[in-house]
Amino acid sequence: MTNINAFEGRPEKQAKWDRRYLGLAHYISQWSKDPRAKVGAVLVNQRYARIVATGFNGFPSNVEDSAERLQNKTQKLQMILHAEQNALLHAGRDARECDVYVVGKPVCNVCATLLIQSGVRRVVAAAPRRDTDSYWDKVGLLAIEMLKEAGVEFTAISGEQLDKLGLNRDEARASQDPLDPYREHQHELRFEP
Ligand SMILES: [Zn+2]
Repeated sequence: MTNINAFEGRPEKQAKWDRRYLGLAHYISQWSKDPRAKVGAVLVNQRYARIVATGFNGFPSNVEDSAERLQNKTQKLQMILHAEQNALLHAGRDARECDVYVVGKPVCNVCATLLIQSGVRRVVAAAPRRDTDSYWDKVGLLAIEMLKEAGVEFTAISGEQLDKLGLNRDEARASQDPLDPYREHQHELRFEP
């Protein structure tokens, strides 16, 4: 694949813009009404230094995001769109060859499949932790495995960057588990660390 990274050979400039886009993703994450996890995503076309789309986790348009529904963990998971999914849907074909910045949680397995299939070339997000019982860590590790296999670059947000964004390092990596009932099914979710 042709390298379209405008920052090739200019790592300091890349790092500066990475920080800016991560800051923006964090700002956007705060628009989420989800009381348990606020996630923001920014899709950027680096060749044209253009923000293509943004997204945060929430219910589909015109589906009421009442406090009652947001408190019902099981139902909420079945209704909510992830930040990355919203950004991809807004971007449409323009997502091709974009970088995506995700703040709030590691990228999950479903979002990874969609990012790969949309032609995203680089993912900047918190790294999931190894050897935990957290659902998000497990699907996050599977996501990274798929991204790597598909040739999508993964850049982990450093602990220092999380500090600067005012994020708790553990929460930003795993946040809370989405659904307690999943714990009962964890024997079905066997992921190699
Ligand atoms: Zn996801």
